[in-house]
Amino acid sequence: MADGMIPLSRPDLSDLEERLVLEVIRSERLSIGPMVERFESLVAQASGRAHGVAVNSGTSGLHLALLALGIGPGDEVITTPFSFIASSNCIAYVGARPVFVDIEPRSLNMDPQAIEAAITPRTKAILAVETFGNPAHMDTYARIAARHELIMIEDCCEALGATLAGRPAGSFGRVGVFGFYPNKQITTGEGGMIVTDDERLAEVCRSLRNQGRPVGQVGGTGGSWLEHERLGYNFRLDELSAALGVGQMQRLESILARRRDVANQYMQRLMGVRDLILPTIEPDVVPSWFVFVVRLSTGFTDVERDRIIESLRRHEVGAAPYFPCIHLQPFYRNMYGYRHGMFPIAESVSQRTIALPFYGSLSARELEIVAQTLEVMIMREQLSR
Ligand SMILES: *Cc1c(COP(=O)(O)O)cnc(C)c1O
Repeated sequence: MADGMIPLSRPDLSDLEERLVLEVIRSERLSIGPMVERFESLVAQASGRAHGVAVNSGTSGLHLALLALGIGPGDEVITTPFSFIASSNCIAYVGARPVFVDIEPRSLNMDPQAIEAAITPRTKAILAVETFGNPAHMDTYARIAARHELIMIEDCCEALGATLAGRPAGSFGRVGVFGFYPNKQITTGEGGMIVTDDERLAEVCRSLRNQGRPVGQVGGTGGSWLEHERLGYNFRLDELSAALGVGQMQRLESILARRRDVANQYMQRLMGVRDLILPTIEPDVVPSWFVFVVRLSTGFTDVERDRIIESLRRHEVGAAPYFPCIHLQPFYRNMYGYRHGMFPIAESVSQRTIALPFYGSLSARELEIVAQTLEVMIMREQLSR
């Protein structure tokens, strides 16, 4: 992609994935087959868990995890307002209340003290997100959850392959959920994976994703295929998507290494740029780079940031404001009464972020174009004040 737009993200696909998908096509077994099972065990293994349950999106995975845990009306779930919308929507799907807490400005993950302060007798769970692939504080959240007898759910959709003090993302909560949309570290087109050590929980998720059918009978054509013991969904992942996932998992280490290399190049190149705050990585953290998000210094307004993003795009450099605060989205204001000013750190950070083009095959030349264009746009914005 030497000419034209430098996109925000690009999937990293190879001949291996092509061969595996072709294998499925030739097998004529397009759903409920061996590829899904292979993919499940690869992701479970990578996240240090006993069970993997593949689903058709990360969002579906979060939805099923909350259902299987029995979270519902009257329950409160503590979570972050600085995330992709799905990490809160899943709480609303089951009729529980998303209770937001502010973030900590270095890692951009939830502030542990704010979590403690938000716990009430109705709190049922903490839904933690590894923002942009950074697992900082996950062990602390797990300790808080244990101390207060709460369930910890890990939305690790952005963090496949990250570790905190050697522990992999997906291994901190009672249950973790990965996502495989094409902008993630690895992709299945659409897809997701629930991981857990809890066999019963995994079984309920398997049944829920498959129309509420009894587990163990999913491939059968006998009477149990038409038996539905609970209200289920069709959240199954198909074999073609799973084949992509198997290939991607086999190449995981090299995919992550290339992304890490690009992130390091960005760090080196942008370190000296005034008015730019770069990602902070604590010493015990190995991030899994999902996106490369910089932020403008506190002097910049959201209007200026938006103009910089617009100019980047006009100059064929992909850029996006990751993420607008969830509590300020119209649905959350209307439904739960959230307002401006409630989570000042999340709001202040989210007004100044810019996600830059980021993928393993980003060339040194492309990276230099991105950096130079960004520098010029920041300067221009300041001159026009
Ligand atoms: C990507 C993502 C999801 C899941 O997204 P899907 O498109 O449904 O796979 C959930 N939570 C977070 C934080 C994400 O980044």
